[in-house]
Amino acid sequence: MEAAHLIVDVARLDREGERLTGELPAEALELDAATGELFQPAGGLRYDLRVQLLGEELLVRGQASQQFRCLCSRCAGSFTWEARDDEIAAAVAVPPGGEAFVDLTPELRDAILLSFPSHPLCRTDCRGLCARCGADLNHGRCGCAPAPDDRWGALDALDG
Ligand SMILES: [Zn+2]
Ligand SMILES: [Zn+2]
Repeated sequence: MEAAHLIVDVARLDREGERLTGELPAEALELDAATGELFQPAGGLRYDLRVQLLGEELLVRGQASQQFRCLCSRCAGSFTWEARDDEIAAAVAVPPGGEAFVDLTPELRDAILLSFPSHPLCRTDCRGLCARCGADLNHGRCGCAPAPDDRWGALDALDG
């Protein structure tokens, strides 16, 4: 069974720092229901970190990524998208005392969640759905006449 947390045993950490790579199960992200509807994990949370103890802090640098199935906010189509943060840089306080375990899962979770767009798009130029008939305009124009305030429609008419 995979561990749902990335725990660092500070006492056993190499003084020169260590590289930690691996993958947490998708559940580690703990998405709330609303976000989970737009972003469905399609794989684990992968990480590649450099961790070093400096004073009473654990310096964490590196990257995290995770694949998702997303719903486009314009056309409602489903698409695969990778959340990633290549510039994780965090300083996590180490509890005082001889034995200390630091959970880096929250840093990874934040890195992924903060890379979520507020309006996921299947592609930047997604044409969305026709406001009248609901046709997916990415598959071509629908039969609806262009709205009077549709500037592009007006240009089309000039062309014709
Ligand atoms: Zn779309
Ligand atoms: Zn239409």
